[in-house]
Amino acid sequence: MAIATINPATGETLKTFEPLNDTEIAAKLDLAGKTFAQYRKTSFSERSQWLQTAANILEQEKADFAEIMTLEMGKPFKAAISEVEKCALVCRYYAEHAPGFLADASVKTDASHSFVRYQPLGAILAVMPWNFPFWQVFRFAAPALMAGNVGLLKHASNVPQCALAIEDIIQRAGFPKGGFQTLLIGAAKVADLMADERIKAATLTGSEPAGASLAAAAGKQIKKTVLELGGSDPFIVLASADLEAAVVTATTARMLNNGQSCIAAKRFIVEEAIADQFEKLLLNKFLALKIGDPMQPDTDLGPLATPDILQDLDQQVQSAVNSGGKVLTGGHSLTDRPGNFYPPTIITDIPQDSAIAQEEFFGPVALLFRVPDIDAAIKLANATPFGLGASAWTTNNQERDRLVEEIEAGAVFINSMVKSDPRLPFGGIKRSGYGRELSIQGIHEFVNVKTVWVK
Ligand code: NAP
Repeated sequence: MAIATINPATGETLKTFEPLNDTEIAAKLDLAGKTFAQYRKTSFSERSQWLQTAANILEQEKADFAEIMTLEMGKPFKAAISEVEKCALVCRYYAEHAPGFLADASVKTDASHSFVRYQPLGAILAVMPWNFPFWQVFRFAAPALMAGNVGLLKHASNVPQCALAIEDIIQRAGFPKGGFQTLLIGAAKVADLMADERIKAATLTGSEPAGASLAAAAGKQIKKTVLELGGSDPFIVLASADLEAAVVTATTARMLNNGQSCIAAKRFIVEEAIADQFEKLLLNKFLALKIGDPMQPDTDLGPLATPDILQDLDQQVQSAVNSGGKVLTGGHSLTDRPGNFYPPTIITDIPQDSAIAQEEFFGPVALLFRVPDIDAAIKLANATPFGLGASAWTTNNQERDRLVEEIEAGAVFINSMVKSDPRLPFGGIKRSGYGRELSIQGIHEFVNVKTVWVK
């Protein structure tokens, strides 16, 4: 894939970038190694100060950064502003809490003194997706930098200006040159990077094939990885739920980021007793959404990020129909305009055991399933290779406890949509990946947990 900014709302190529050659890549790896040797000796208070400055820059220039995001991948501008604000939040969170998370932890044993010390590993490679082009990077960079690591970013090829802007923010914040560098390279270069001894570990957020490929390359070199991959999150609505609240949240949870979020609600599993009502209310909400120019403040749904994503989604919808699915609204890409626009779509009656019911739909398409009771709801929620998040709606405490206990996912949100929060760990199980980002767990992923015993 060419490294380029192509406006998804118009199809216009705005800027192309020459990928780095091998000599340029080697120079950046050398700089990362040299910088790490010094940077690891900096104090928490210096790192905190730089990260707070990065948060200030993000807040002060949020409209500029939001515009780059919208231009490169099409998310509504108002959502892009919120994303920049959230990046500032994660910077402030780790600036404040990292010193405590990484303090020596004393453990009572039969030694005179024994404790755990957390030390940085070195240069960490981050392979990142385009869907939250700032947030995904900052939620890696903030804890990694606070822990004393240096970062190398291989961002998705369709968001190069976001990648360069992030490097610039971190530089301007005061971090040493080489503390965080963007590598404008294609995916084919990642395996070679994993084989390079200057890279100590890697994190990838993206699709299953990309994750499997990175993990295989890292496995050959015995290097640590964190993988944040896809999801087909269930959104369960039981008969006892507050239906109006569930429908409002269901719409946001499916449509956020033009439907392109790993933790979007993708499979709506509704108890039969309220299914007709839920279906009607959801349809009304979907029909009321305004599709159009993502730069406009009243736009709810912008374009999909690339023509390939649009085509893949269209094909999945056709497969769902071929398997017996019924389209209530939407169902075809919008051909009356340029850009990668797909309308809000609801599909019912897909056989629960069909292959297509197992797939992740990365766009504004809701799959609606009816179930007789909570047993069937939990069984269907778990009938997926993924295990990222789950949202479940009930006012009954016994049902709530069962949902929390029995759903196979990295997160269960009751009467709320699944979301990321710097204070809470984020990640999946099964084919959604492994490891955690955010919170104390996130900062402990890329450190040497050193046991110290003094007699
Ligand atoms: P993708 O194609 O896997 O791209 C993600 C990143 O991986 C890009 O930087 C891409 O580079 C790179 N890449 C692609 N193939 C690779 C390979 N074989 N080896 C190494 N790197 C490779 O993902 P996407 O389709 O753009 O993103 C959507 C997916 O990400 C969805 O499945 C979504 O659920 C998932 N996601 C997960 C989370 C989470 O936290 N769990 C968050 C957001 C998104 P190029 O752009 O150069 O190809």
